[in-house]
Amino acid sequence: MATKPLILVTNDDGIFSPGIRMLVEVMQEIGEVVVVAPDSPQSGMGHAITIGNTIRLEKSKLFPEIEAYECSGTPADCVKIAKHFVLKNRVPHLVVSGINHGSNSSISVLYSGTMSAAIEAALEGLPAIGFSLCDYDHNADFQYIRSWVKQITETALTKGIPTGITLNVNFPSRKYAPLKGIKFCRQAIARWEERFEERYDPYGRRYFWMAGDFDNKDVGEDTDEWALSNGYISIVPCTYDLTAHTSIGWLNRQWSYPS
Ligand code: MN
Repeated sequence: MATKPLILVTNDDGIFSPGIRMLVEVMQEIGEVVVVAPDSPQSGMGHAITIGNTIRLEKSKLFPEIEAYECSGTPADCVKIAKHFVLKNRVPHLVVSGINHGSNSSISVLYSGTMSAAIEAALEGLPAIGFSLCDYDHNADFQYIRSWVKQITETALTKGIPTGITLNVNFPSRKYAPLKGIKFCRQAIARWEERFEERYDPYGRRYFWMAGDFDNKDVGEDTDEWALSNGYISIVPCTYDLTAHTSIGWLNRQWSYPS
């Protein structure tokens, strides 16, 4: 590439998280980096946007050597304000989101702010990748996947990503190292089985804490869950069109509304 590619970096864990720090470092080895990331944790926000409320955007001191902003909005807000205010006429060659502290495989893609930021970029016609590390340990090691993140990013820049498609990249935890390679997958058909723990605050008022167990009955060997539990990096190409195309015909036949 003749000139350095412009790369927009965001996440949902917040600009203070270790995952985005490593992602910024890797992207700086590849291109010119602009960061617009939430000023507080925004995990589980999905594709939420801020309407009817203020959005704050401040220059960040965390990355003094590059153009970086902290935003009070959601991950999707960050991409929108980056595109329409921060970057204006500059079009990024790639948008990367993460590296998320925790898995975004299977159905978690729907809840993920990390992936929604990347999907928002794809809605704007920009190539985008969401990176996640399947490790919930407080001291999760992001460094061991560093060379893989760089390699996947460089491949995305040279070979491209189909228009409108977002790549959902998940890495197994360090206990699977050395990783065996990359598998292109479908998302496993699985779900979260929620548990609401009922607790009481010091004033005796009840509150709930949502916990859950991941319930995967999908035994396919072409899924992200299979890849991750067998020591591979999973890459699921995602679309944002949720239409069940084949059901349109079924509804027309079965519901028989006069047209
Ligand atoms: Mn997160």
